[in-house]
Amino acid sequence: MPAVMPTYARYDVALERGEGVYAFGTDGQRYLDFGAGIAVASLGHCHPHLVEALKTQAETLWHVSNLYNIPGQERLAERLVANTFADAVFFNNSGNEAVELGFKMMRKFQSENGHLERYRIISIEGAFHGRSLAGLAAGKQEKQTAGFGPLTDGFDQVAFGNLNEMRAAITRETAGIVIEPIQGEGGIRPLDDDYLRGLRAICDEYGLLLQFDEVQTGIGRTGKLYAYQWSGVAPDILSSAKGLGGGFPVGATMATEQVAATMGAGSHGSTFGGNPLAMACANAVLDVVLGDGFLENVNTMSKRLRKGLDDLVVKFPNHLAGVRGKGLLLGLQFQGNGSEAGAMVVKVNALGLLSVPAGDNVMRMIPPLVIESAHVDEALGILDKALAETAAEAG
Ligand SMILES: *Cc1c(COP(=O)(O)O)cnc(C)c1O
Repeated sequence: MPAVMPTYARYDVALERGEGVYAFGTDGQRYLDFGAGIAVASLGHCHPHLVEALKTQAETLWHVSNLYNIPGQERLAERLVANTFADAVFFNNSGNEAVELGFKMMRKFQSENGHLERYRIISIEGAFHGRSLAGLAAGKQEKQTAGFGPLTDGFDQVAFGNLNEMRAAITRETAGIVIEPIQGEGGIRPLDDDYLRGLRAICDEYGLLLQFDEVQTGIGRTGKLYAYQWSGVAPDILSSAKGLGGGFPVGATMATEQVAATMGAGSHGSTFGGNPLAMACANAVLDVVLGDGFLENVNTMSKRLRKGLDDLVVKFPNHLAGVRGKGLLLGLQFQGNGSEAGAMVVKVNALGLLSVPAGDNVMRMIPPLVIESAHVDEALGILDKALAETAAEAG
């Protein structure tokens, strides 16, 4: 068998170099990268400011233990705190770790407040919270859980966007609720502001904690630093990763003071989490994302891309069902039995456009946030061509 374990059905593409919004294959083919490593390379490939930050840090200090103070962590945490609801941050290495620490914090908070019985967490259908045993138990996606049972105890799930079901699912054992403000893997499914306000009210009423999994929606992806900021509804816990390091693996679990205060010395740890290399990269990402005009560009490009995608839906109504999402986290939904979006991803790959499928027959358009009008138009042109071919083949 191949030496790399066969957990991915990989595309027939091998990328070896990147420059801005383009990636280059070993065969010399140039790709416009509207997948960005699944919403990770938010500043594009090899952004000069990130390269400089990583090189400088590489010549200074790579790794030290969290047994010592790490100035880069303090700086990054202070900046995240200054720009969000959070009062404190723990740094980890991946989205899954950032989410799962949030689950631990819900339990810890409840137990520290005299509610040892409150350990269950409610998620919603279509959720994706990572591949650890707890992440699988929260996501409850048959495709991902098959063969890994029994699922870890302590996770319940209710219908997407249904507050009545959410209320009905709460018991004396419930610790909190976790949702993605816009479901990513589930198919770019946004939850509306009223629903988020309802969740906040339910959590306040029952003494539950509200966790937003913003691993995919964070760091400017939707046109705000975090997607919750569009709604005005703040969580108690937020998990961040993907775009945070611009390609360097790093995650963050952010929380309010009352939650973070229950995580005393010894309650959690990580060997690599928040090491100087990761902190240099994430601080460099924030330099750019928090800079003048950056989020405005995301919103301007989003409008242009969305308009173009809407036009394609009108032009190819037999193939496309609609567009959804926010900022540069847009999903193009296909008509049909479920495999059409995936087939289109393969088709546009061959035409020099990278994108990523998602659940619900959706093709994700998640380019680097630094794209310009010409890149949007180039992507739309490739999509138009591929759809016209598909329409012609269908007769
Ligand atoms: C990608 C993702 C995760 C998992 O992140 P990893 O870094 O792969 O562990 C969790 N939650 C959401 C919403 C994601 O999009």
